[in-house]
Amino acid sequence: MAADCWLCRRAVPAVRNTVGSLDHPIGVCAKCNSLCCGHHGHRSSKPAFLCILCDASLKASSAGWRAWVNQGGLSTLQLGAPAPVFEPAAGSRLATALVELFPPGSELARAVVGSLEEWARGRPAAFAEAIQRFADELVRLLDRVVAEPLPARWPRPGNGYSSAEVADCWRLLDPAAKRLLAAAVVLVRLLQVEPAELPAALRAVVEFAAPLELPGLAAWRSDVLERTGDD
Ligand SMILES: [Zn+2]
Ligand SMILES: [Zn+2]
Repeated sequence: MAADCWLCRRAVPAVRNTVGSLDHPIGVCAKCNSLCCGHHGHRSSKPAFLCILCDASLKASSAGWRAWVNQGGLSTLQLGAPAPVFEPAAGSRLATALVELFPPGSELARAVVGSLEEWARGRPAAFAEAIQRFADELVRLLDRVVAEPLPARWPRPGNGYSSAEVADCWRLLDPAAKRLLAAAVVLVRLLQVEPAELPAALRAVVEFAAPLELPGLAAWRSDVLERTGDD
């Protein structure tokens, strides 16, 4: 079967959706330019169509934006906004890199959301509900991990960020930003994307969280996702 949707072609699991049908492209992802079907992409009320992989980056970037706003950055994300300048704190390098996934001043920045609830609006209900449920669970686990010195054997992200830096970035986040960032990790796990395929900042968080298990996620995958490809 020759697939027309880039993510159908790669057999990335898709969201059960009523928008269009699998493998019939309805849009081009505003971030990565891949042509996607309505089960692999989402058009929000903000003028952006994003593929489901870039949707994970959107949540991670939104978490960074919240951290910046909480430090006195702009509270609205208008076009032409200056690049964020965090107070130089531990973790701010990673937070800045997360923000820059949807660069300030770009058209893409208009897709940034203020909360996971805002992200969930318009997404298929079962999918959005489960993302939020597992994100809450992951927030609890991450809070517990960073509350104490990291175990010596905690995995180091393999891409220029240290595990201590990810922990410090986590501490910069308010509860809503933590939910967004955790939700990004949940989505990556759900789709079973290789961390090496992710933008470096998101990859660092995903790899940091790797030892934290989310029981039930695998079972849930088949409830809310549909398989694609020929297998
Ligand atoms: Zn597709
Ligand atoms: Zn994309």
